[in-house]
Amino acid sequence: MRILSGMRSTGKLHLGNYITLEKWKELQDSGHECYYFVADWHALTSHKEDVSQFEFWTMDIVKTYVSCGLDPEISVLFVQSAIKEHSELFLLLSNLVSVSRLQRMPTYKEQRSEMSGRDLSSAGFMMYPLLQSADVLMYRANGVPIGEDQLYHIELTREIARRFNSMYGEVFPEPEPILSKFPKLPGTDGRKMSKSYNNFVLIDNNAEYLWKKLAPMMTDPARKRRNDPGDPEKCPVWDYHKAFTQNKEELEWVVEGCTQALIGCLECKKLLFENLVKKLKPVWEKMRELDNYEESLMKIVSEGNSKAKAFAESTMKLVRNAMSMRW
Ligand code: SF4
Repeated sequence: MRILSGMRSTGKLHLGNYITLEKWKELQDSGHECYYFVADWHALTSHKEDVSQFEFWTMDIVKTYVSCGLDPEISVLFVQSAIKEHSELFLLLSNLVSVSRLQRMPTYKEQRSEMSGRDLSSAGFMMYPLLQSADVLMYRANGVPIGEDQLYHIELTREIARRFNSMYGEVFPEPEPILSKFPKLPGTDGRKMSKSYNNFVLIDNNAEYLWKKLAPMMTDPARKRRNDPGDPEKCPVWDYHKAFTQNKEELEWVVEGCTQALIGCLECKKLLFENLVKKLKPVWEKMRELDNYEESLMKIVSEGNSKAKAFAESTMKLVRNAMSMRW
């Protein structure tokens, strides 16, 4: 399958993103043709005031991609704004979808209420699911790794592909969603992970920072004292264990220890901390190594951009032919 996915350049990546990157790596390692990008045009739709940081965050995200195991020799790693063809396809496809269809997208309403401190009144913000469709269709992707909240966007992309194909001839495959087996990671306080709540844990950190974030984490409120039994399903620490503790016996130790009050919450967090350090230590090492080789990161981006551009040009040739715009 050809796979396409991206992350917005609105800041450093966190552990929720790490789970996504593990999925991307798994797809890469199982032989799929993967295109992974930094979505700086998407960042603009909600963070137009913060552009001075965009290039720094873009490079930082590429560094995180590589440090988490995305191999630029196998996957194409690129930056959205470098491939101007995305904007051409976006414009052409905008004629195939109604304004009311975009306004009815559940994510449009949800995000407007969640990001209340931001100006989301722009046409660009309303149309960002359409820009995502253009991103996916540009690479004629068959699969898109996403979280459940993005399912509506894939549905829109499939609709647009069908409409295009029936009006102008078969150009685009209908992409399938590839759902991650883990639901979204909550924030350390149990609420939705969000920058405005400061309840996220960055990937790029060290053991000291990690423990500072994990030690005060919210737990099941029923466990006021050590000998009160708890319910892991009511505790965000358990969500983190499910995502990062792979050993079955350790997971059983948490469930039994929690429900029968055999362990304290701090012991439970210590185990999570140790498992996270094991996972992240090689990532931190790789990141520090790349800090000294900015040119090699630039080379990765520029080679990835060239490969993405070549593919985008081939798609646009098909699109322009199909739409009688061969000038
Ligand atoms: S023992 Fe672990 S799972 Fe249970 S409430 Fe405490 S931190 Fe949460």
